[in-house]
Amino acid sequence: MIRIKNLEFRYAADSTPVLRSVDAQVGDGQYVAVIGPNGCGKTTLAKHLNGLLTPMSGDVWVDDMNTRDTASLRDIRRVVGMVFQNPDSQIVGMTVEEDLAFGPGNLRLPAADIRERVEESLRTVGLAGYEKRPTHTLSGGEKRLVAIAGVLAMRPRYIVFDEPTSFLDPAGKRRILNVIRKLNQSGMAIIHVTHDMDEIVESGLVLVMTEGRIELAGSPAEVLGRVETLKAMGLGPPQVTELMWRLRRSGQDVREGIMTIEEAVKEISSLVDRKTISSGDGTHPGM
Ligand code: ADP
Repeated sequence: MIRIKNLEFRYAADSTPVLRSVDAQVGDGQYVAVIGPNGCGKTTLAKHLNGLLTPMSGDVWVDDMNTRDTASLRDIRRVVGMVFQNPDSQIVGMTVEEDLAFGPGNLRLPAADIRERVEESLRTVGLAGYEKRPTHTLSGGEKRLVAIAGVLAMRPRYIVFDEPTSFLDPAGKRRILNVIRKLNQSGMAIIHVTHDMDEIVESGLVLVMTEGRIELAGSPAEVLGRVETLKAMGLGPPQVTELMWRLRRSGQDVREGIMTIEEAVKEISSLVDRKTISSGDGTHPGM
């Protein structure tokens, strides 16, 4: 489990705090989304989870290791992998294989084990057969996937994704989100930092940040149910949530907690059916 206790952080002693009294935890296998407007401190929080930054006050524990304890940092970083927003900052090899072998190579594993890890990681992200590809020829989406595979090759138990879909087209975004879902389904804990409300729906717990604080925490349905609070924070709810909220606000009897287009279509059809029935004209084909 990762435990964040009363975490405070500022980049310089005389600057304003970037993180204020942050308390949170991430259990084994959990999928936690961290959302908030630009500049609210999400990346700063993410960098605390594997000891890239250390708290000014408060603590971050990974299992029983404290990120302040420099002797534990190696182990902490093996347990908590980090996929940075810009994959170019993470890809070091000339070829995909060389890049993915870099981390396991540092663990001094036998060559056969390294090869197995490289192949397995590439299969997991859907890039089987990419071993010999020069990394500079990869597309933006492929670079993200290689960066994820590089983290997977270290076999962490938690992966922090910092804005993993930024600058990708819709198909590229879907590909990354599918990989994240698959990893979580296979038991990996996920911490997914995003400013895109559409991306929180798959998570089990959403932490909503503004100005360095966690303002709201709950399931995606609970968080998305707070449309006015989200808007006040400058966070646009997904279109489906907005539509259902507007219908409810205009007095329509639609249920809460609807997050997908499919559910919304069903609910609106049922609303239309109910209206037809209650109007009593008996012409509804279903009657
Ligand atoms: P987010 O990920 O939510 O966009 P960040 O954690 O990147 O937010 O930034 C939070 C605040 O900290 C911003 O005001 C940003 O300008 C500031 N900040 C981020 N990185 C640094 C840094 N290395 N030095 C000084 N200030 C920083």
